[in-house]
Amino acid sequence: MPLLNKLTHQLFHSSLWLSISIIMLILLVASNQTWAEVAAAHTQSHLQAQKAVLVVGSEQDYPPFATGMTDATAGGFTVDLWKAVAKEANLNYTIHVAPFHEILQDFKDGKIDVLINLAYSDARHQFADFTVPHVIIHGAIFVRKDNAVIHSENDLANKSIIVLKADLAHDYALSKGWEKQLVLVGTAAEGLNLLASGKHDAMLLGKLTGIKTLRELELNTIEARAKAGFSQKFSFAIREGQSELLGKLNEGLAIAKSNGTYRTLYEKWFGLYEDKDVTWRDFIKYITPVVFVFLSLSGYLLYRRKVDQLAFDLKLRTLFAAIEQSPISIVITDVDANIEYVNPRFTEVTGYPLQDAIGQNPRILKSGLTPEETYLALWSTLVSGQMWQGELINKRQNGEIYWEEAHISPVKNKAGILTHYVAAKVDITQRKQNEEAIRQSEERFRFILENSPIAVRITQCATCQVVFANQRYAELVGLTPNEVIGINPKQYYANPRDYEDVLAQISEEGRVSNKLVELHIPNEPLTTKWALASYLQLDYHGDPSVLGWFYDISDRKAMEEQIQHLAHYDPLTNLPNRTLFEARLQQALTAAKRNHLHLALMFLDLDKFKPINDTLGHGVGDLVLKEVARRIQACLRESDTVARIGGDEFVVLLPIVEAEQDAIGVAEKIRQVLNLPMALAGHDLQISSSTGIALYPEHADEENQLIKNADTAMYYAKTIGRDTVKLYQENMQRTDT
Ligand code: GH3
Ligand code: MG
Repeated sequence: MPLLNKLTHQLFHSSLWLSISIIMLILLVASNQTWAEVAAAHTQSHLQAQKAVLVVGSEQDYPPFATGMTDATAGGFTVDLWKAVAKEANLNYTIHVAPFHEILQDFKDGKIDVLINLAYSDARHQFADFTVPHVIIHGAIFVRKDNAVIHSENDLANKSIIVLKADLAHDYALSKGWEKQLVLVGTAAEGLNLLASGKHDAMLLGKLTGIKTLRELELNTIEARAKAGFSQKFSFAIREGQSELLGKLNEGLAIAKSNGTYRTLYEKWFGLYEDKDVTWRDFIKYITPVVFVFLSLSGYLLYRRKVDQLAFDLKLRTLFAAIEQSPISIVITDVDANIEYVNPRFTEVTGYPLQDAIGQNPRILKSGLTPEETYLALWSTLVSGQMWQGELINKRQNGEIYWEEAHISPVKNKAGILTHYVAAKVDITQRKQNEEAIRQSEERFRFILENSPIAVRITQCATCQVVFANQRYAELVGLTPNEVIGINPKQYYANPRDYEDVLAQISEEGRVSNKLVELHIPNEPLTTKWALASYLQLDYHGDPSVLGWFYDISDRKAMEEQIQHLAHYDPLTNLPNRTLFEARLQQALTAAKRNHLHLALMFLDLDKFKPINDTLGHGVGDLVLKEVARRIQACLRESDTVARIGGDEFVVLLPIVEAEQDAIGVAEKIRQVLNLPMALAGHDLQISSSTGIALYPEHADEENQLIKNADTAMYYAKTIGRDTVKLYQENMQRTDT
């Protein structure tokens, strides 16, 4: 499995575990409240939050977060984002626009319910709860470009510094002990204009707001010179203790993030600037510690036992909000498997709303496709008090089939009695579909390979064993496909070095193309096959392997050999023909010259052969020629050559002779053997032959002259009466040439 997949898998499993742990904790701490009560309370307060008309405070002129000076002209990134989130959470609200310090005071006084653009600080956390941040902005020191003194915060000592009243920069400046140097202004534009007029030294402000305002004011004499040590994490803020509303807002933000609304708004309002938005990673980074803090705190509560009921509820509800927003389906049932609670993700996946699911048995999801053994294993595991995990094929309310990976745990109360089952499930349909698509494509690929007219086999590198072979390959090596599996293919190579060369080339270049290999078939030792082989390195089921294609060219090779044979051999007698003879003569002459040896060449022509053809027919003549070939061959050594170079004309090459007598001896022997009677096709025949001999170097020192002289000697033998052997002599010169 690729690394990324493994990581995703692990992450996925740990999140399922986290969900189960949270729920079990809630069930444990809430043991004197039933789950149904917790859920009902949640739903109740949730309904209240929906009914209330919230007063939402937005700051005057704090671009690009807040634009507009009046309630009617309220705009900007945060206002747009709020609208999207509120719509998602189904909240009613009115927007009130005023300078920041005013809306902050109104919020504290309870006149405003939500501040949509409040930067987080510990001090503010005393009176407000914050959602996850929607934008993080770093603070900057703005100075006039001609200011050569201020380069960092260290240079701000005794300088006159402008800040927005009650802005985070204001708090920061106070914390740095710069109280006496501060000049307070109401808006960013006011502050920057003041700075541009040359009256003060610097302004501390969120970088984005500052840059945006400078552009609007077309002030190019001022720049963001250096980072200031405060960063602003802007969130929606509500008054403390309204965890349901907080949960809804966080959920709305999460949805806006995931459905692209957030990105669209961000591009619209911040598109011009470089700073990155809050990513999902930030969200997770932020939420994960929060969850763990809750877990630890809850553990502390358990330990202490005595807790303030209000604080206890709040904790509980916050955890509950996490479950509500979970991307994992959660189902909680009583001991009889009646559903007491499902989270919104369950509804998204299955289509069953909470009210339809409550009281039902989870078997409403049964598709009939999950094997019965899976359910047996599931229940026997749960009954034994263990957690079960596995895959289920379920059915959505609309009848659609889906796959889910489920972790189901039995939950016991403090007395050890089973009270609930909790299931955390993830829809893995997409993954399953992908796997199925891969399986099908592998199957198709396999089908093509199986039926390929080209022999294909795959060998695993580590074990040197064949792990796949198609029918054609099995035929090539004379086995069944099953017999081939597990075999080391080296044994099929007539020349095992071929295979070693292939492996060496594969490890260097990853492939080998069109290599001619001679195959040895273990079960058919007399058969040699030839194949054009190509090889490719690949991963087969995750293991480094070599794919080999073998195009069987044994037939072609045999045909080529036959053609070669025809070109060099006489088809009637199977003796070498003139072409091959001349080549051998050439070779023998070269060797004889090099080694100072003697060589004999004989020309032999049957006497009065024509009349045999004429009287007994050509077929009998052919039989005679074959018998002659056989008899001459029987008189010779392996290293000698006899060739048929014409109708009844043969040549004999003795590549090494000691003396002329040796050659004459062989020729005589042949003459006598040919004289012996022949019984062919019912005829008793007797023939004779005339032979001329020429020797190297005695009679000629090159090929043509040697041939010519042997022929002359033969002709001479004919003329003096036939059935004789004659050694060449100069006075034999033929008169007809
Ligand atoms: P000579 O003693 O002068 O050699 O007389 P000859 O009858 O043998 O005459 P020659 O060598 O000139 O003729 C060879 C004959 O061999 C001519 C032809 O009829 C015959 N011949 C040539 N090729 C073949 C063959 O492939 N098969 C058969 N059966 N006969 C052949
Ligand atoms: Mg003849």
